[in-house]
Amino acid sequence: MQISHMNKGDGDTSYAKNSLFQNKILSLSSSMVECAIDKIMSEVHPKSMEVADLGCSSGPNSLTKVYEIIHIVDVVSRRMGLPIPELRVSLNDLPCNDFNLVFEMLPELYNKVNNDYGIESCYVCGVPGSFYGRLFPNNSLHFVHSSMSLHWLSQVPLDLEPSVGSHINKENIYISKCSSENVVKAYQRQYQDDMSLFFKLRAKEIVVGGRMVLSFLGRRSPEPRATEACYNCEILSLALMSMALDGLIEKEKIDSFNLPSYLPSQEEVEHEIEKQGSFKVERVEGFEMEHIKDPNNLNETTGSLIAKILRSVMEPMFMSHFQFKLEMSDELFVRFVKLYDHRISQAEFLSFVWVFSLSKKMD
Ligand code: SAH
Repeated sequence: MQISHMNKGDGDTSYAKNSLFQNKILSLSSSMVECAIDKIMSEVHPKSMEVADLGCSSGPNSLTKVYEIIHIVDVVSRRMGLPIPELRVSLNDLPCNDFNLVFEMLPELYNKVNNDYGIESCYVCGVPGSFYGRLFPNNSLHFVHSSMSLHWLSQVPLDLEPSVGSHINKENIYISKCSSENVVKAYQRQYQDDMSLFFKLRAKEIVVGGRMVLSFLGRRSPEPRATEACYNCEILSLALMSMALDGLIEKEKIDSFNLPSYLPSQEEVEHEIEKQGSFKVERVEGFEMEHIKDPNNLNETTGSLIAKILRSVMEPMFMSHFQFKLEMSDELFVRFVKLYDHRISQAEFLSFVWVFSLSKKMD
């Protein structure tokens, strides 16, 4: 849990500098966020509105979304002829997240909100902790937002760790198209446990009529081995294996590494929501995402673009498990780019993102 945070700081390989793709995903949920806030204000009438962003990370993205949420609250309040409520926005991430980088941008946000909307009563705070644990008091939240975080599990699926004998997901770091049923089941069990806990905890923290808008990576297909869920990790596994063949890392280290992540289908998410029982699905949309080129570097290949995103997200995990020095991480992603660009010429690849809008039902 301590290492599933993104690359810190604002250097070349940081999350802050490599999260344009995640930034694009933020805009996919805008109409659902507007609809959710409209309903909260017309049905719950909060005088003071409590908002949380779960998995805020360390770049500019979270405050971009906070600004948008404040803009929407302003628009909806005007439309209803109501004074704009006081706002408290809680930014949550794991304790090892680089919160400082976000906090340094806060004065700019406060100024902008004050200049654009004359709003002085907006209070942003940090809430370090796992969203697979309690974060807020009972019945205290009106609106929960989370983008690109909920495909992270609370831990590597326990059933993948052998108590005796050999590893069951050899030569792979996630589910692959050749994975056995045991590997798939281990991931599914962990996902189900985590999601049922997530919805149970949020049901305690969110007021009746409160809403959540959640965006995360997933898959269109019911098949967990589908290309849109597995492709990037298959290529990363191949790059790692080629390093093992060249004697740069131990193969056993690859066999024992598994990502704490799961990319669900619509049915899997809905099943967990229904089973827990406190939330109603108001709207679901799925998006096929193209990777976004950096406008300053339009000749960059897709492989290089994806390598930068994956590196900013996964490097802390690789460094810790493989005891990598920086040169080894460079080597891994150079190999990834070669493998990716060689294959991608045959079929352009897209990631798949779900956006769910949920409301809390009466108890
Ligand atoms: N919402 C941001 C960041 C997405 S990156 C954006 O849209 O750009 C995913 C974030 O989720 C990371 O910062 C990671 O540390 C955080 N995360 C992963 N598991 C978490 C957990 N269990 N509790 C809280 N945050 C978590």
